[in-house]
Amino acid sequence: MKIWVLGKRPSRPRALGAAALLVACAAVPAGAAASSSAGPASPAVTGAAARNVILLIGDGMGDSEITLARDYTVGAAGRLHMDRFPMTGAYTTYSVHKDGTPDYVTDSAASATGWATGHKTVNGRLSKTPDTDRPLSTLLELAQRNGLATGSVTTAELTDATPAALVSHVSDRACQGPADMRDCPGDALGRGGAGSVAEQSVAHDVDVLLGGGKQRFDQTVTEGRDRGRTVTDQARRRGHQVVTDARELAAARPGRPVLGLFAPEALPVEWTGKPAAQGGTAPQRCLTSNPGRPAGTPSLEAMTRKALQLLERPKGAGKDGKKGFFLQVEGASIDKMDHDADPCGQIGETAAFDRAVKVARDYAAEHPDTLVVTTADHGHSSQIVPLEARPAGLSSTLVTDEGGLMKVSYGTHAGDEGQEHSGVQVRIAAQGPQAHRVLGLTDQTELFTTLRTALSLR
Ligand SMILES: [Zn+2]
Repeated sequence: MKIWVLGKRPSRPRALGAAALLVACAAVPAGAAASSSAGPASPAVTGAAARNVILLIGDGMGDSEITLARDYTVGAAGRLHMDRFPMTGAYTTYSVHKDGTPDYVTDSAASATGWATGHKTVNGRLSKTPDTDRPLSTLLELAQRNGLATGSVTTAELTDATPAALVSHVSDRACQGPADMRDCPGDALGRGGAGSVAEQSVAHDVDVLLGGGKQRFDQTVTEGRDRGRTVTDQARRRGHQVVTDARELAAARPGRPVLGLFAPEALPVEWTGKPAAQGGTAPQRCLTSNPGRPAGTPSLEAMTRKALQLLERPKGAGKDGKKGFFLQVEGASIDKMDHDADPCGQIGETAAFDRAVKVARDYAAEHPDTLVVTTADHGHSSQIVPLEARPAGLSSTLVTDEGGLMKVSYGTHAGDEGQEHSGVQVRIAAQGPQAHRVLGLTDQTELFTTLRTALSLR
């Protein structure tokens, strides 16, 4: 096994054997600060507990998606922020069928259930068991029970699979708002369930929830105490600050939960370009803007920065200010653009996610008792192929920032759904206390144990 430990110059890693690594780790004093975000990471490995955890999930961000974004933006020999973690491993992501046998290609719901609860489930289900449909405790729930501040940030709807898995338990991910409960009759309030994902999200009184999906929260609750109110009104009744654009977000203050709903559905993507086509496209440069993205839509980077500010002084900071936080940050539309075979959209979302990674690493440089983990929930369709390749499916040729030609092929078409996920293992990288636990090949469910251990959650 080769273990790469970054020195002062991340582009020239030193290869160390496992024994050398242990020596190197022992030499890193607990609490040592990094000198800069681009330099050596904060304590590469310590056995110590973490005060804070920042978990960044690139949805559908397999090795191909990372390499595409690297090649296009900083060049083949360049390095993204997410490439600079001192500890890098891989994990398997498969889900299960109801009888417990492996389903080799996961969706984001089963995948998020894996890292959020430590248990594998069936595709489409959120934080419930595969067979008996019983709720499973999530990292966010454990963090709350242990007195930590909590947050979840996404470019998708807040009711979409990844953020939903932390704060809800439903038998089908489609049950996002009170009007969407057709596939989850047993989860309806009137049947003794906990309601839709939106209702459960609000009921958790998470300190910071930022993302899209306003349409789900504007639906009217049809049962229970809040019958006749929208979910947004329910949040206000519980004392949440509801904000809907970057200006209102900037004005939000710690002390009461913040619910940010910045688009009716997913946040519009950052970059645009021609989608891949049968037989390929003419070489294209991506447009690093999107005319369909309203001014006032906060970037993932900005949402992450604000979330960290808000979590620094959690509710009741006077009483339990010694406790840290758990924050999840999702770059959701890497996956969505991959489904659409839209290479520019996909690369722009990966680059935007990488800027959020930098925010997290900058925070950890100042707060070395922070464990930062960056990973994906599953692999996806895009592949870098030779220019002379003639893919059977959709492809596009891009002109990279360094002037090269790069051909991207999408070959996992599955009917009306467009391109589909792949079952490949994905990268997991980390820095800070307990970061060594990501080394080697692990399974997605072990990330739950890593984060739970790092935060000493009981
Ligand atoms: Zn997907």
